[in-house]
Amino acid sequence: MMAEEQARYRARLEDAAADLRRRITAGEDAEQPVTPDRAIGRLTRVEAMQAQQMALALRRRHEQRLQRIERALGLIAQGAYGVCTRCGDDIAPARLDAAPDTFLCVGCGGVDARRRPAQRAAGGRRARTKATEPSAAIAASTLKPGR
Ligand SMILES: [Zn+2]
Repeated sequence: MMAEEQARYRARLEDAAADLRRRITAGEDAEQPVTPDRAIGRLTRVEAMQAQQMALALRRRHEQRLQRIERALGLIAQGAYGVCTRCGDDIAPARLDAAPDTFLCVGCGGVDARRRPAQRAAGGRRARTKATEPSAAIAASTLKPGR
């Protein structure tokens, strides 16, 4: 990949990381446990607790995406960005443009990693090898709560 392309992806990834860090910080207040004496305005306590759970779930999603972005930035620093982490082929530029935090080429099935976790997690050996890819592990864990 050309140096200027890498710089462009790095800028996008750094912007996205900064945005996620802002969102995580901004959400911290909503994540606080709901205490009986907490001033919650018109919300009932149950509603306040539901809002807290949603804030925590949102934070987890932000943190997972931030981890992917930081991993992508690490690959850029190593000069290994844009290369499939499984087969070593180049990842199509259109794919990186759509999602700069992509680590698998289309051929390795990463295209639907986040959209169709059910299919990727199905099957024994296949699921285990995919679990070495962090996004697949995340997809599998969200698929089966309690594991
Ligand atoms: Zn590949």
